[in-house]
Amino acid sequence: MHTHDTSVEVLTQAIVRYAVERVRMEPPLDGPRSQAELQAMAGDTISEHGMGGLEALRLFGDVLAPACISSDHPRFLSFVPTAPTEASVLFDLVVGASSIYGGSWMEGAGAVFAENQALRYIADLAGMPAEAGGVFVSGGTAGNLSALIAARHRWRQRAGGRFDRTRGLIISSKGAHSSIAQACRAMDTDEVSVTADAEGRLHVENLLEAIAGLAPEDRERVFAVVATCGTTNAGVIDDLTAAADIAEELGVWFHIDGAYGGAGLAAPSVRGRYDGIERADSFIVDPHKWLFAPYDCCALLYRDPLAARAAHRQHAEYLDVLHGEDDHHADQPWNPSDFAHHLSRRARGLPFWFSLAMYGTAAYSDAVETTLTVAHEGARLIEAAPHLELVMQPELSVVLFRRVGWTPQQYQGWSDRLLAEQTAFVVPTAWAGETVLRYCVVNPRTTLADIQLLIDTLS
Ligand SMILES: *Cc1c(COP(=O)(O)O)cnc(C)c1O
Repeated sequence: MHTHDTSVEVLTQAIVRYAVERVRMEPPLDGPRSQAELQAMAGDTISEHGMGGLEALRLFGDVLAPACISSDHPRFLSFVPTAPTEASVLFDLVVGASSIYGGSWMEGAGAVFAENQALRYIADLAGMPAEAGGVFVSGGTAGNLSALIAARHRWRQRAGGRFDRTRGLIISSKGAHSSIAQACRAMDTDEVSVTADAEGRLHVENLLEAIAGLAPEDRERVFAVVATCGTTNAGVIDDLTAAADIAEELGVWFHIDGAYGGAGLAAPSVRGRYDGIERADSFIVDPHKWLFAPYDCCALLYRDPLAARAAHRQHAEYLDVLHGEDDHHADQPWNPSDFAHHLSRRARGLPFWFSLAMYGTAAYSDAVETTLTVAHEGARLIEAAPHLELVMQPELSVVLFRRVGWTPQQYQGWSDRLLAEQTAFVVPTAWAGETVLRYCVVNPRTTLADIQLLIDTLS
């Protein structure tokens, strides 16, 4: 298995050819199949003596890959799509080939150095201080959890043991992503979910009201305020300054979830909407969503990385060689494993770093602006179409709209038909209890003509 013979050489060529071809082409949308269908088509793939590399590659290309929707297709407009640059995908192959342990400076210094510069780009976009830093984790869910674990740790540490057995409480909003509630479940933490406005935004009045409504013993349990810049369903930005003020007044951690919308910081046309972000204690953004990197890549940044390290560093006889036993020693090597709930890690920030280094930051700003333009001009087309209505004016690149007079079944039927015909992948969502349509543009290859096509199929 570990020898490079002629059959491995043939396979190498075939795999690289497959990957390069996939990156180059406009992929088919494809679509899911049932377990039974896949079982019938693929059979039992694992056997005592194996099927051989070329056969496994054929099976992947003919059966398995087509049963996965191509989320980088320009008319994949559901959820939050992905749009990695060719360079980032190709470099992902290099990262995979390089067996880099990205958990420590000792083993991965070169990779960690480059990842940290990519993190710095994001920290600068957000206006975070020079000491800010963090790590690339698998996704927003992992980033939110890790940030909140650090927040709780600091709260308990500051209380000098008084709250070590007290259940914590966070203040978030109804517009927050489901991963915040999931983090609370994982941490056995309570959540006050503040009412959002009609567009799903967290506002100062509702925040103040929620705080005022807390019993004194609950107020003591609060360890973080969580705001969102770019809600997943509507793409709106909370009042970050108000949330920062409240966190400051309560003396608690301020976390901002920008998994989807954080990328908008790169776009001058909307940058002003993020005022207050520079006050975050922690902030996440997923480059695998709207910053053109492949899965799985979330940038997690802390204002005070030492606070995160205090919460996350693992100790073991065999690990202390990486950092010594004294956590508080000032000049320690930068070990990415210290900044999240993980230890071993792929240097998953490298594909993002490579593309950013290659193209420069201006190209990133331009690409984000392009998607915003298409999303917003698409909204104008919807406004002009007699059979359609905007649910709200878009703030970022998510657009919510309704087909006048349609039932939930009609929406679903339309969505199913579009995928079956391989036209587009656009699923309905719900807004204020009503089934509506939603598209999310993060792909610079998505054009206004693609949005027009949707509009035409809805008439
Ligand atoms: C997508 C998203 C998440 C979750 O990110 P994953 O990378 O899917 O784990 C969290 N918060 C927001 C606002 C998101 O849009």
